Amino acid sequence: LFISIEGPEGAGKSTILEALLPILSVKRSVVATREPGGVRIAEDIRGIILDPKNTVLDGKTEILLFAAARRVHLLEKVLPALAEGKVVIADRFIDSSVAYQGFAGGVDVEQVKWLNDFATDSLKPDLTIFFDITPEEGLKRVMKNNEREKNRLDLAKLDYHKKVYEGYQALLKTDSDRIVAIDASKSPEEVLDQIINVLYTRFPG
Ligand code: C5P
Repeated sequence: LFISIEGPEGAGKSTILEALLPILSVKRSVVATREPGGVRIAEDIRGIILDPKNTVLDGKTEILLFAAARRVHLLEKVLPALAEGKVVIADRFIDSSVAYQGFAGGVDVEQVKWLNDFATDSLKPDLTIFFDITPEEGLKRVMKNNEREKNRLDLAKLDYHKKVYEGYQALLKTDSDRIVAIDASKSPEEVLDQIINVLYTRFPG
């Protein structure tokens, strides 16, 4: 079972994932991972992409790096774990590229989707949980809670984050069987409850 978690900045993905893991691990063997990253080479690529010195990277260069990181992560970590019958939960996957580099970054969305298919041999998650929070609310949370992220994110780019959010909304419409939205503006306990409900409804037992 392959589950991806998606959402804009400040959605609380990593906090909730930390709380979710011990709960799911009672019944199943679970591997939690993240993109870009998850394995050494992909973490190195993450370092290159997120390094503020590297603002010279244009959208296409960036998306090629994401695609390379995605493929090595998939081959080295995700597919082997799935083959062993484990549940894999990835903090970000293909939809991040469509929302960030496509809708917000201006790379042609169909080309982004094509590149995703190329990098993953068209593998899609069985389920994608979208942490729904408006960019305004999400960025407010980042400003309040996270000193490191606060410095990294350019908050002057609210417009960019609005486009990211619109991208996710578009994906929710076109891929409504796979992607389920939960209300991420609620308290961590309520968000966790929503996710557990979705999981038990989709995969009883
Ligand atoms: O999920 P997390 O916040 O750790 O992701 C790190 C950052 O990488 C995100 O905040 C986002 O700005 C960026 N990112 C991106 N395009 C992707 C995936 C992540 O711009 N496809």
